[in-house]
Amino acid sequence: MIDVPVVLFPEMDANLREKLDSLPTAPGVYLMKDREGNVVYVGKAVNLRSRVRSYFQPGTSDTRSFVPLLDRILGDIEVILVDSEKEALLLENTLIKRHKPRFNVRLRDDKSYICLRLDERHPYPRLEVVRRIRQDGARYFGPYSSATAIRETLRIINRYFQLRTCTDAVLERRTRPCLLYQIKRCPAPCVFDVPQEEYRRSVREVVLFLEGKEPELVEQLRVRMRQAADELRFEDAARLRDQIRAIERSLERQRMVFSEFVDQDVFGYHREGPHLAFEILYIRGGRLVSARSFYFSGQEFPTEELLSSFVDQYYGQGAAIPDEILLPREIEGLESREAHLSEQRGRKVRVYVPRRGEKRRLVEMANRNAEQALVEARKKDRTNLELLERLQRKLGLSRLPRRIECFDVSHFQGSLVVASQVAALDGEPDKSRYRHYKIKSFQGQDDFAAIHEVISRRIEKGDLPDLFLIDGGKGQLHAARAALKDAGVLGQVDLAAIAESRIVGDTGPTGTTGRVPDRVFVPGLKDPIVFAPNAAEFYVLQRLRDEAHRFAITFHQKLRRAVNFRSVLEQIPGVGEKRRKALLRHFGSLRRIRAATADEICEVEGFSRALAERVVEFLARSRDPDRDSDLPEGAAQSMDPDAAVGEVVEDEATAAAEEAEASRMAQDVESSA
Ligand code: SF4
Repeated sequence: MIDVPVVLFPEMDANLREKLDSLPTAPGVYLMKDREGNVVYVGKAVNLRSRVRSYFQPGTSDTRSFVPLLDRILGDIEVILVDSEKEALLLENTLIKRHKPRFNVRLRDDKSYICLRLDERHPYPRLEVVRRIRQDGARYFGPYSSATAIRETLRIINRYFQLRTCTDAVLERRTRPCLLYQIKRCPAPCVFDVPQEEYRRSVREVVLFLEGKEPELVEQLRVRMRQAADELRFEDAARLRDQIRAIERSLERQRMVFSEFVDQDVFGYHREGPHLAFEILYIRGGRLVSARSFYFSGQEFPTEELLSSFVDQYYGQGAAIPDEILLPREIEGLESREAHLSEQRGRKVRVYVPRRGEKRRLVEMANRNAEQALVEARKKDRTNLELLERLQRKLGLSRLPRRIECFDVSHFQGSLVVASQVAALDGEPDKSRYRHYKIKSFQGQDDFAAIHEVISRRIEKGDLPDLFLIDGGKGQLHAARAALKDAGVLGQVDLAAIAESRIVGDTGPTGTTGRVPDRVFVPGLKDPIVFAPNAAEFYVLQRLRDEAHRFAITFHQKLRRAVNFRSVLEQIPGVGEKRRKALLRHFGSLRRIRAATADEICEVEGFSRALAERVVEFLARSRDPDRDSDLPEGAAQSMDPDAAVGEVVEDEATAAAEEAEASRMAQDVESSA
C-alpha cells in the first residue's frame, strides 16, 4: 500500500501526528477524542491506517465538513485491533453505547422495536408484546412502527382469532374463565379441556395473518364458513364471515409494493449538512406494513459511515432481521455484515444495494420518505430552538439550555429519601438519561441535604447538561449551588429552581385567599421570575418538573410493591432466607417470581415440586383481590404494547401503570363487546 502523506493540521500536536504515521493496517475500531479527552466519534475499519488517514488526506473527500472540525477539536485517536471485521462491528456497537459520542448516530434506546412474540412450544400459546428479540426458539413478528400500529393488529387478533391473552401463570391458576370467554373471544383453556388441535388452528391462522399471508388465510376461512353454513352452524358461519371482513379491511389498508413474497427492510436516507434522516420501510410478504423514520442532527461524518453504523446499531439492538435488507448506497463490509446477520437470524439474509427495477424503486420511496421526515423534524427543531432561546433570555442563562436535567426529591414511607432525575434534549424527553437515586448520606427528611447529595453524585458522573432544574424554591436552589461550588464546577452549568403554584392568605371561612403562580428562581436574583400565563417556553420547564414528579411516584410504587412482596415472601412456610435469596437470584425480580409457574420454581436450587406448588399457591392467595376477577390478569400486558410485556425492565413498569393498562383494557373490552 502506498502511503499518501497526511495533511498536517496546523494545531495537530506532534504525538498525534506520529500516531497517524504508525497506525496498523489491521481491522479494528478507532476512537476519536477531543482535547478534553471525550470520545467524539467511534468508527470501524477493515484497514485502520487507510481509514483514519483518509480523514486527513487532500484531494479525496477533504471538503467534507468534518475535516475543519477535526482540526479544531481533535485531541487524540485511539485504536483497538481485532481479528475480523465481524468483531470490529460488534466492538463498534458496544463502544458507541458506552461513550455516546456526539458525532455518531445513536439510537436512543431499544424500547422502540415493538414486536409480537409467539411461543408455539406451549400447548396454548399466546401473543406477547416485546421490545427485544431473543434467540429463544419462539417466533417474532414485526417490528411495528409504533404502539398504535401494533394495537390495531392486536385489536383484530384479539377480537377474531380466539387466542388467550392472559399470562402463563394466570392460565395455570384460574379457577373460572374471565370476561373474554363470556364475550366469545377466548375458548378458556384455563378451565376447559379445549382440544389442542382446535386451538392450534387458531394459532396457525394468527401466524398467516401476521406473516402477511392474508389471501391464503381468507381462502381457508371461506372454506370453513361454507362448511359451517352447510352444516347449519349459522353462528359459526357468521363469526367466520366477520373474521373474513375484518381481515379484508386490514388488507385494503396495506399497499402491495412487491410481487415477491419476501420480508424486506428497505433503508433510505436524506441529508442536509449536519441534519440526517433515515427511513426504514417494513415489507412483509410483499406488502408495505409500516415505516419508521429516525432523525439526527449535528452529524459531521461521511454518510456511508453513518449509514453503516446506523444499520449495525439497529439490528444490534434486537430488531427483527428480514430475508433481505436493501440499502440506498454502498457501505464497507457488506459481505461480513450479511454473514453476521445470517448467523444472528439463523437463516440466510441478503444485504445489498439495488441498482434498478422494483427494488430500486422501493429504495427511492424510502429516500423520499426520509426527506419528508427530515423536513418535519427540522421544523419541530426550529420551534423548540426558538422556545429554548426565549427561555435563555428570560432566565438570563449563560448558554442555550439544549440539555436540561430536572431533579425532584421525595420521601418513601417517611424515611427513605429518593430523588428522580429526568432529562430533555432540545425540549424533548431524553429517557436514556432518566435516573433514580436513593439518598445515602443521612436518614430523615432534609430536602436541602438531599439536593446537595444528588447534585454532587450527578456531577461525579461527568458530561454535565446545560441546565440543572431543581423542583423547589430558593432553599433547594442554594443547596444545588453549594454542590456545584463544592465540586468546583460553578459556572459550568446553569441552575434554576421551579416552584409550584400555591394558595396564600387566610383559608378559613371568612379569609381571603390568592394564588401564587408557578415561578422560577435563578442564582443572583432575589425575586422569582414569573412567566406570562401559557407562555410556551415556560411549558418546557413545567413539563419536565411534572415528568420528574411522575417518575418519582413510579419509583415509590415500585419500592412499595417490593416491600409488600418481600414481606409476603417472608411468610411462606418452608421458605427461609436462603431459599428467598435463591428465588431472587434465579428470577432476577419480584415481579418474575410472582409470574413464575411451579415448574419454573422447581428449577431453583432447594425447591422440591411440593414446595414450588406451595409457593405458587401462596402467592396466588396473597393477591386475592385480583384472583378470579373478570379481567384476565396480565391481559393488559399481552394486549397493550405500551406495557411492553416481557421486557419491562424500567422503573416505569409500576403497579400504577399496570393498573391503568388493565382499566384501559377493561374499557376496550366493554366498549367493543
Ligand atoms: S383467563 Fe381469560 S384469557 Fe385466560 S384462558 Fe381463561 S378465558 Fe382465556
